[in-house]
Order: sequence, then C-alpha cells, then structure tokens
Amino acid sequence: MSKRTHTREDQRQRTEFFDEGKRLDANPETRQLAGCWLCGLRIDYTQAPGTTTDSHTLDHYYPVDDYPELQNDPDNFRHCHFDCNSSRGKGDAERGLGELMPAWWS
Ligand SMILES: [Zn+2]
Repeated sequence: MSKRTHTREDQRQRTEFFDEGKRLDANPETRQLAGCWLCGLRIDYTQAPGTTTDSHTLDHYYPVDDYPELQNDPDNFRHCHFDCNSSRGKGDAERGLGELMPAWWS
C-alpha cells in the first residue's frame, strides 16, 4: 500500500513547485532548470499539471514508498513530464537514458 499522503499541504507544495517551474521556463536563461529531469526536454507549462503526456508533474527523486519522510522535502522534488513520471514507476532512477525501449519494440 502506498504511504503517500494527499493533504492540503501536499497540494499547496505541488502548486508552488509547478509555479516555480513555470517561472523558470518563462526565462530562456533558467529554462533548463525547469525541464524534465528524466528526459531533459521542455515541459508544457501551459497545460494543467498531469493532464497531458508532456504536462508537468512533481516527481520525487527518492520514491515516496521507500522514503515517506521525504515526501514533503523540496530538495527531493523534481520537475517531470507526466509521461516520463508514469513510465518511470519507482526505484529505477539510476537507470540510464536510452534503455527505455524493451527489446521487442521496433
Ligand atoms: Zn520527460
């Protein structure tokens, strides 16, 4: 069972983190900091978080299921595509890029 909580405070932090990303993305000099930490591409901040594949989600560097005490630690927050976050699952942050396609894919 997931140890994740869904409190008002969680929601506030999420919104704040999204707004921060949006601000960084609006400035070409800081845009890189607002990109997806998994694939490095730009996130679509014009869409509401979690509504499209390239919209924003808050990802946790250390998965909440393993580190519930870090769920509300801003140092653990990463800007992430909805799609990248979903396909990451948990526990494989160490995996390098370029290994995402299974062998049967082509
Ligand atoms: Zn991504």
